[in-house]
Amino acid sequence: MPQQHTSIQDRVLRTGLECTGIGTWAFDIASQTLTVSATTRVLFGHGIDQPFDFHTFLSLLDPTDREATTTALDTSIGSGAAFDIACRITAPGKTSHWLRLRGGVLKDDDGRPLHLGGIVIDIDEEKRLEEALRTREEHLRSILETVPDAMIVIDEAGTMQYFSRAAERLFGYSRSIAIGRNVNSLMPEPDRTRHDGYLHRYQTTGYRHIIGIGRIVTGKREDGTTFPMHLSVGEMQSGGRRYFTGFVRDLTEHQQTQARLSELQSELVHMSRLSAMGEMASALAHELNQPLTAISNYLKGSRRLLSASGLTELDKVEIALDQAAEQALRAGQIIRRLRSFVTRSETEKRIESVAKLVEEAGALGLVGAREQGVFLRFDLDPSCDLVLADRVQIQQVLVNLFRNALEAMQGSVRQELTVSNTPLSDDMVLIRVEDTGHGIAGDIRSSLFQPFFTTKQTGMGVGLSISRTIIEAHGGQLWAETNEAGGATFHFSLPSGISADFKNLPETSSDAE
Ligand code: ADP
Repeated sequence: MPQQHTSIQDRVLRTGLECTGIGTWAFDIASQTLTVSATTRVLFGHGIDQPFDFHTFLSLLDPTDREATTTALDTSIGSGAAFDIACRITAPGKTSHWLRLRGGVLKDDDGRPLHLGGIVIDIDEEKRLEEALRTREEHLRSILETVPDAMIVIDEAGTMQYFSRAAERLFGYSRSIAIGRNVNSLMPEPDRTRHDGYLHRYQTTGYRHIIGIGRIVTGKREDGTTFPMHLSVGEMQSGGRRYFTGFVRDLTEHQQTQARLSELQSELVHMSRLSAMGEMASALAHELNQPLTAISNYLKGSRRLLSASGLTELDKVEIALDQAAEQALRAGQIIRRLRSFVTRSETEKRIESVAKLVEEAGALGLVGAREQGVFLRFDLDPSCDLVLADRVQIQQVLVNLFRNALEAMQGSVRQELTVSNTPLSDDMVLIRVEDTGHGIAGDIRSSLFQPFFTTKQTGMGVGLSISRTIIEAHGGQLWAETNEAGGATFHFSLPSGISADFKNLPETSSDAE
């Protein structure tokens, strides 16, 4: 009876399985006979009346899956282990269909395999979803691979999970070496040692060092060299775990371009000083000629006095020689200022006196003013005398403004040039250069500061544009207005030298060589 009881139980079980779409099958190893349930036939797309033996089974499989399936079954028979295989059923002219076969070996009392038996289920939808997911993932990956920025994904512990092609190129690590390593291998000290701490702190306190902010940091390549990079980090949750995605942009080229630009800029600033000097050459030659002629006259006079008077007019000779020495110093000073003005120099901001800057720039830029009949007025307020500035560059601005003012006043009846300073705010000083020239016509007002804009026949049109660049690089502004006299007033602001931030900076002596 137990035999009969068992077979009833088996039938009940099988019916239960069949009702849920799970097919059953049994294979007698000795006779190579295959027995399949009705659901199995349906799953294999095989008619109910047609014979279904082992060869039928193999023939229904997609040719590419046959070998793997028989190998899996043979292995199971040989080892007695369970098997689990996925294979495709491909009927001619139809799209293939995925099935999963699971089963095990039934052995006799001596441990010899007698039967193979198991179930078969439809996994087509699962497989198609899996495939669609894989296609989408590959698609996404191929998109990410084309992003020029390097992309790195790390887990909560800082271990790299993904390393894009661009990251391979940038850091020199191959993907297989990078994945699994701590991301701190891509950083120089001190970040290398601190990075685990940053991650830990973020997870415990939510304090962000870089996540969602983006920063310029230094990266380290596999060969140990370092480079500037912009890093932005995003956060994501997947499978209950937290991951961080970093996008890295190499800034080496950007910084080189910036350096080259500022080199060109300083070259241009220097060139324009030279050209200003060229324009002023004849006036300067005249200015130098005066002390040199005076020296020559004093020396000739002394010579005459010496030979004529036989040592009686020594006191007069002494006076003449003193005068000659004084004039020689004056000529020397002009040359020294010229030299420091045209010498190429690094930008160096120090605390400077506006009065001294104006006086020195005037010595160069206002040569010839007196001869032209210009009345000069320096209306300088000592309470806002100190500014933080590069001496030579601000002198260049003043020389430009002075030369323009002199030229603008050439045909004017009233020729007055006023330079003044006033406090603009707690930390800025305003300097004004006013003239009584022809002023600025409305239609050219907007073009004044554009490079190469000039209304002069021999003008270069770079003076004002360079001056504005210089002032802006100092954190100030330069602009022009028409004044009551109809002339032009140029205003520029500079950071005050007595602002708290600059208290510790040294003050320069303007004639220091
Ligand atoms: P440039 O002096 O070689 O022309 P700038 O850039 O120094 O180059 O000046 C540009 C133009 O601005 C001048 O050609 C002139 O038309 C105008 N300008 C500059 N300064 C004055 C001024 N003080 N009064 C009237 N116009 C001026």
